[in-house]
Amino acid sequence: MNLIMLGAPGAGKGTQAKRLSDKYEIPHISTGDIFRANIKAQTELGVKAKSYMDQGLLVPDELVVDLVADRLKQDDCVKGFILDGFPRTLVQADSLDKALSAMDAKIDAAVDVDVPDEDIIKRMAGRRACISCGSTYHLQYLKPAVEGVCDRCSDKLVLRVDDEPETVKKRLLVYHEQTQPLIEYYTKKGSLVKVDGTLDIPTITIAILKHLSK
Ligand code: AMP
Repeated sequence: MNLIMLGAPGAGKGTQAKRLSDKYEIPHISTGDIFRANIKAQTELGVKAKSYMDQGLLVPDELVVDLVADRLKQDDCVKGFILDGFPRTLVQADSLDKALSAMDAKIDAAVDVDVPDEDIIKRMAGRRACISCGSTYHLQYLKPAVEGVCDRCSDKLVLRVDDEPETVKKRLLVYHEQTQPLIEYYTKKGSLVKVDGTLDIPTITIAILKHLSK
């Protein structure tokens, strides 16, 4: 199963991607996580990506396209993969199609987790991320066992710079301009699956699985 998760930042596509990854036993590949790991490790890619991410802008296509194409060639992707946060532009979608057809593969479904902007701004203000492992939580919807402490690695939870309200508004603008056209792109290909992202987490997963089993 080769899946793409679409949807605005904060729509919950990462949460759904993790659940689908467990269910289908295929890797969850988040380009945002890859960039954050590079920032933490202070790699050249991380330094370049950070300046864009902190402003709520997309990292340039050329920094992400080859990185994903290489990742999809790794052994753990033989049964499939879930791409979360990629593609985010038409250029990226096109390059993904080319990389996949070179591997004799294709996208089975592009899942759009749909949430209105107002809900996203409210949600993101409550999001907290671990400074070490990057796991995300929510003050209301996905609380850690101990307030302010990561369940996975026990490090501190913080509001990420790119989740601050002003950055979120910028990210939503960028989403509507550059990423939303992908909804039409995958609709035309007959692979779009749209789900209501305002429902609770398990209900959304059930809705996605129902579509995928059709
Ligand atoms: P995410 O965790 O997916 O919301 O990604 C966080 C940030 O990483 C985004 O706001 C972008 O700056 C950058 N990013 C992640 N994936 C991509 C991508 N496919 N293309 C460009 N920038 C990306």
